[in-house]
Amino acid sequence: MVFVKIVYHPMMKESYDSTPAGATGRLDSAIQALSSVHGYKCIEPEPATQEQLLRAHSSQHIESVKRESESRYGGRLYDVALLAAGGAIKSARIAARGEPCFGLIRPPGHHASYDGYWGFCYFCNMAVALLHLKAAGLIERAFVLDFDLHHGDGNVDILSRHNGFQIHNPRGRGDEEYLADVERVMENMQEVDIISASAGFDQYEHDWGGNLSTEAFGEIGRIIKRHSLEKCNGNRFALLEGGYNHADLGVNIRAFCNGLR
Ligand SMILES: [Zn+2]
Repeated sequence: MVFVKIVYHPMMKESYDSTPAGATGRLDSAIQALSSVHGYKCIEPEPATQEQLLRAHSSQHIESVKRESESRYGGRLYDVALLAAGGAIKSARIAARGEPCFGLIRPPGHHASYDGYWGFCYFCNMAVALLHLKAAGLIERAFVLDFDLHHGDGNVDILSRHNGFQIHNPRGRGDEEYLADVERVMENMQEVDIISASAGFDQYEHDWGGNLSTEAFGEIGRIIKRHSLEKCNGNRFALLEGGYNHADLGVNIRAFCNGLR
């Protein structure tokens, strides 16, 4: 039996900013749903280092996140953001040895670009993670499936400055059309060493996007698993991005992870 490792730190449970992504209680149903399933193992991350952040962001960017954190949130936001980026690295490292992994992290990251941030994001967790793997010589090429409701402009901004990264934000109204788009693009991807997902659950039918069912998230997980086994020794991981239906976020993440494992 293959287990999905869950990278999570208790500091992420408490609110760290005033955005919907940082709201109190947002991760509670996920912690509940994943801890009640046999076969999930929780791993705590360490904070990302400056060297690791600087692969994706300018030093001015890091300083401005730190300033915002100190002036508005007593420094807490910066500490949690470092843990999220560190959690992304940990998830990617686990995946690079063929073990499926889900980073239950926040703040999200896919709207943070090289030199700016918005959309509840501060550091681009996915870019920090993939650029770490590349610098460590663990991968050359990666595919990123960004299934958040919103286009991951930060992932694109940072990763398109480097060779070897393919990114796709699927489209489609309803499960069938959306999953067909995911399948078509993944079928045609170029050679990769790892498949990753910016896993936003705000496409959910009872969330902002009003689009996908819980079963669709499970199917996305299964499609990623199948292609990773065919193309890159099963190397696969996902990082939490959006998802604002607090009650159902847990069942949706669990459905996705059950597909991914
Ligand atoms: Zn989103």
